[in-house]
Amino acid sequence: MNGKIGLEEHFAIAETLQDSAGFVPGDYWKELSKRLTDIHDGRLREMDQNGMEMMILSLNAPAVQAIPETAKAIEIAIRANDYLAEQVAKRPDRFQAFAALPMQDPDAATRELERCMKELGFKGALVNGFSQVGTPENVVYYDAPQYADFWARSEALDAPFYLHPRNPIASWAQIYDGHPWLMGPTWAFGQETAVHALRLMASGLFDRHPKLQIVLGHMGEGLPYSMWRIDNRNAWVKLPKAYPAKKTFAEYFQQNFHLTTSGNFRTQTLIDAMLEVGSDRILFSTDWPFENVDHASNWFNSASISEADRVKIGRTNAVNLFKLAI
Ligand code: MN
Repeated sequence: MNGKIGLEEHFAIAETLQDSAGFVPGDYWKELSKRLTDIHDGRLREMDQNGMEMMILSLNAPAVQAIPETAKAIEIAIRANDYLAEQVAKRPDRFQAFAALPMQDPDAATRELERCMKELGFKGALVNGFSQVGTPENVVYYDAPQYADFWARSEALDAPFYLHPRNPIASWAQIYDGHPWLMGPTWAFGQETAVHALRLMASGLFDRHPKLQIVLGHMGEGLPYSMWRIDNRNAWVKLPKAYPAKKTFAEYFQQNFHLTTSGNFRTQTLIDAMLEVGSDRILFSTDWPFENVDHASNWFNSASISEADRVKIGRTNAVNLFKLAI
């Protein structure tokens, strides 16, 4: 399929490049770092060769979220967003942008989102999981009350929020002790991000802001497969609802979430996601440069789904959600 649009597609600036170094063996770092810092050369070639018309670009991970010093986090976010705006301006027909946000300071994050949406023409934000605030051990999730105004502004700006994975910090990750291979995309990314998404749902965030849209990568970080059980465990035991939100998790999942195919190129998994949220809420993505554009595209182009769904997932859902002028 030609004309595909991807929205989990990363780049790095010098200050954040090393954050990606641990995710591949040393002899692959030369290639990965080249991919991360390139925008208009090899990346465009990959897109051209695989029928990908546009990438909505975002900073690598964990980047801003892992900078406990708030002033530094704000500075790096602004620098990355300014750089990205310059790059997008060179080829707006092929690249658009998500904002990096210094969530360490909710007011600064709100101001930066507003600046990116209104002045730089960005399409939303991509945030790499929890933020470390003040000290590396102080971990903050975004269902916390200090983000009330941030979420209100996100909804008013019609800015989708891509909740992207990061690894848990060591002191919170005893379950992985002695099993480092479970970190990153193998397992820990999905676990961390899925729980964060469930916290947002349970908090009542989407009762207060019913138009707010969260995007999850990797075909929903395992949530489609578990959604029925989350709402229905021990259904014979009649208990009052144990969380503040008014609706079931499945209802928020179907009304306030979009899922992308990033890094999860599997038809069985796609079908499950389609059965839970419908093809209007699933969008093609690759997770470049950590995954290959050809791997994503070759799978998606021939996946056993209807052509109508392929066009929606590959392109038109993104055009609609991000109001793309293409
Ligand atoms: Mn990614």
